[in-house]
This record gives sequence, C-alpha cells and structure tokens, in this order.
Amino acid sequence: MKIASVWSREILDSRGNPTIEVDIATESVLASAAAPSGASTGTHEAVELRDGGKRYMGKGVLQAVQNVNEIIAPAIIGMEVSDQSGIDHRMKELDGTKGKSKLGANAMVATSMAVLRAAAASEGKMLHEYLGGNILPSPMFNIVNGGKHAGNGLAVQEFMIIPQADLFTERLRMASEIYHVLGKQLVGKLGPAARNVGDEGGYAPQIDNTYKALDEITSAIEEAGYGGACTLALDAAASSFYDEKSGTYSIDGKELKEAEMVDYYADIAKAYPIISIEDPFFEESFEAFAALRKALPQKQVVGDDLVVTNVTRLAQAIDMQSINALLLKVNQIGTISEAMDAVRMCRENKLNVIVSHRSGETEDCFIADFSVGINAGQIKTGAPARGERTAKYNQLLRIEERMMVEQA
Ligand code: PGA
Ligand code: ZN
Repeated sequence: MKIASVWSREILDSRGNPTIEVDIATESVLASAAAPSGASTGTHEAVELRDGGKRYMGKGVLQAVQNVNEIIAPAIIGMEVSDQSGIDHRMKELDGTKGKSKLGANAMVATSMAVLRAAAASEGKMLHEYLGGNILPSPMFNIVNGGKHAGNGLAVQEFMIIPQADLFTERLRMASEIYHVLGKQLVGKLGPAARNVGDEGGYAPQIDNTYKALDEITSAIEEAGYGGACTLALDAAASSFYDEKSGTYSIDGKELKEAEMVDYYADIAKAYPIISIEDPFFEESFEAFAALRKALPQKQVVGDDLVVTNVTRLAQAIDMQSINALLLKVNQIGTISEAMDAVRMCRENKLNVIVSHRSGETEDCFIADFSVGINAGQIKTGAPARGERTAKYNQLLRIEERMMVEQA
C-alpha cells in the first residue's frame, strides 16, 4: 500500500517541552508516532532540531514540523509503506548531514516510526506481529531517580529493579508493589517530600549516597516479600558526574579516578544483587568499560551514551570488548532501519539488547511493541507510575494477554 499523506505537528512531551508527532496515511489506514527526548544525551547522538528564540524557551520544533510537511512528505508520498529501508534511505539523502541536523533526527525518527506502524496496520497486524517477534521483554523498573533526572544528591541516574517471574503481568505487579512499599518507607524515614518523583517516575528522595539508596531499595524488596525474586540494575550515566579536566568522577562525596571507580562498582556489585550496570564511565572511555567487564565478567555492562545506537561506535565497543549489551534508543540514531542495523550487529556478536525510553517521553507506546517485535529480551521504560511510562507497560500487558488468548 502506498503512502497517501504525511502530516506533522508540535505536541508536548512529559517534561512539558515541545516534540514532534507525525501522521502517515495510506488509502485505508492512519498511523502516528511521536519523538521522545533525552536529558542526559550522549554527545554523539543524532541532532534534535530545535527552533531557538523566545518561543518555548527555544525548544520549539516548528522547523522540524515544516521539514516533515514540506520536504519529507512530497518525497515519500507514493512510496510503498512497507519499504522501510527505502523510505529511511530517502530521508537520509534529503538530510545529507552526518548528524541529521538539517531535517532533524526528531523529524526523521517520528516519521520512520509512523511508517513502520502504518505498514503493520495496512496488513491488519499489531506492530510486534508484523515484525515477527513473540518474546515479552524482561522489564527494568526505575524506582529511584538521581543525576540529571532529579534534584537530589545522587550521582547515579537510575536505580532499577528487575522482578523475576514467568509472566510480564506478574513482574509488573511485583514492581508496583515494591514501588509503593518503597514510597511509604521513604516518607516514614525522610518525610512526605521523599515521595516526590523525578523525570522517569522514580522517587527522588534527598539521599546523597549510592549505598543508602540501594539499602532503601533492598529493604523495600524484602518488605514487599520479594527478597530473592528481584535483582537490581543501575544506569550511572557517568558522563554527568565526570570532570574531564581532572579525570575524576564525583560520587558519594568523593572524587574517584577511573581505576577507583572500577573498584567502586565491584564493591557495590558484591554488596547488592546488581546484575547490570549502564554507562559506568564517561562516554569516550571505551577502555574503562572494558576494564569493568574484565573485573565483573558475569555482569551486564551496557553502552548507552558510549554507543548512541550508532553502528560505528558499536563496532568499536565490540572490538574493544567494552560492553556486552546495547541500550537501543531509536531517536539516538534517527531511523528504524539504522536501529535495526545495530540490533543485527548485536545479534552477530552475541550482545544483549535493551530497548529504552527517554527521560522526556510521550504517551506513544511504540517501544513496547517494538521491543517484542525484535525479541529484544529486555526493556527499560521508567517507574511503574506516570502515564508516559505506564503507557508502555500497559501495552505490554495487552500484548501478553493477546498472546495467551492465541495460545489457548
Ligand atoms: P535520557 O536518559 O533519556 O535523559 O538520555 C535515559 C538513559 O540514560 O537511559
Ligand atoms: Zn543511560
């Protein structure tokens, strides 16, 4: 089926900043998708086009909207909606820059996502079915926020729980129960303000030490009755507490050198059931990542800002044995086809794939369908709270339900 029309608009994301939504219509279906937006963005990410000026404090996306309506639309109308790589390629040609700064990676990614949705819909399929996936991902729930996502003293950006159960539905229930127990516990110890949340829906208590946060979380897991059935993951997003001049990381009131940071992570991984650590070092430190992998061979070391879903950087990370898992954010690279290339490279090199939201999200649940569609195996999409986060988890509930009905 051919693309009949393309239209885009400016909407708001979960932080109240503008973002872009794109509609793609064929003769018989209409599909939309919206671009998310990061806060702790990697330097090498594809470029989000923002208007500048006074409007929306410079964050407007009207130029990106115009690029979709006036440049991308006439070029892809008439193309087969199932020709994802052809459409993505055409947009890249029109853009012509390395970082997608001309049309804007936000304009391109929302279009690319909407095209995939429209292709699935035109075959009467759910997105995951269209992509041929059937595995529900193991969710990582971010229940304590720090770093650039909160106004507390925690250096580490995300403290996540990974409940173990057969069904996704059960994992979500466990996470919700632990989340609520933790909220009560924090209020009891630190007062009502401790239940306030950060950008990804996790609590942002006035705690300034990684160990203290992990103590609170492990005690909530016990209290909820899930000791032994729930492991932990961290996203340090370490570029945000690294000082390039001195070469030190500012964490828990200390200034630590790279080698000391390796010991620091080894220490917390011994003290708590942590199975996965994302961006443990500055985004250019391929060697430091590799050193941590050597020190903790059983753990998942995840590249987010290090790799930015970019196959060139991914190849380097694989070559240097820096990571054994990729954090996949489609908007970091700008098109579905290029994100798929990264997934393929991970498969060929036996790396895990974690599909991820951004800290600035919308109600769009695209990544839920996509994570199942590519059989990613893991997803992180924030706390089991706040609409833009639960939109994804609730979609996974629907997908699991549908699969159970089909199997019955
Ligand atoms: P970001 O953070 O969307 O603010 O970049 C999410 C993450 O680092 O995983
Ligand atoms: Zn990250």
